[in-house]
Amino acid sequence: MKVTKSELERIAVDREHYPENGLPEIAFVGRSNVGKSSLINALLNRKNLARTSSKPGKTRTINFYLVNDMIRFVDLPGYGYAGVSFSERNKWADIVNEYLFKRPNLRAIIMIVDIRHEPTEKDLIMYEFLKAYDYTSIVVATKADKISKGKWQSNLKIIRNKMNLKDETLLIPISSSDKINIDKLWEVIDGLV
Ligand code: GDP
Repeated sequence: MKVTKSELERIAVDREHYPENGLPEIAFVGRSNVGKSSLINALLNRKNLARTSSKPGKTRTINFYLVNDMIRFVDLPGYGYAGVSFSERNKWADIVNEYLFKRPNLRAIIMIVDIRHEPTEKDLIMYEFLKAYDYTSIVVATKADKISKGKWQSNLKIIRNKMNLKDETLLIPISSSDKINIDKLWEVIDGLV
């Protein structure tokens, strides 16, 4: 899809504030600071539409971006902040669960990990949590520009094994800053919506 228009349509916490169902949605999840906002901005070819981590890290909202008036990108709150209390974690889970529970127009969830590192314990818990919902999942290993291309495959293999990804689950190396494989991810999204 060639993006000609993108806007922040809605910031919501509760289901009653979500945009009306209907348009196909692609949701994005990832540990705080992993590069989720940068990926959304790269896909939309915008510099600063999605919030970035320079803003306070504890924002607990779901941001809906309307793309070409045709589909939505849904930016779920990041997880894994240091120093977050048990009740704040519960709040996070409530917000994410409420979205994932019965969202018939949700076509896929894109989970973002860092290609340089083994997935964290929280990444693994997140992935298990997503699997329970049975949506299509795609894993994106971002910041690929930070390691040499020769190391991509071995790092991807570690991620695939550690997360116990099924053979058919897509795992795509990406760089938002260098725009590596952004077009490939768009092809995948186009095939889903
Ligand atoms: P978020 O908290 O997951 O939304 O993370 P951000 O998108 O704000 O990114 C966190 C930091 O990683 C920022 O300093 C970004 O500039 C940097 N970053 C994100 N994606 C990439 C990437 O693909 N390559 C490089 N080199 N840096 C990245």
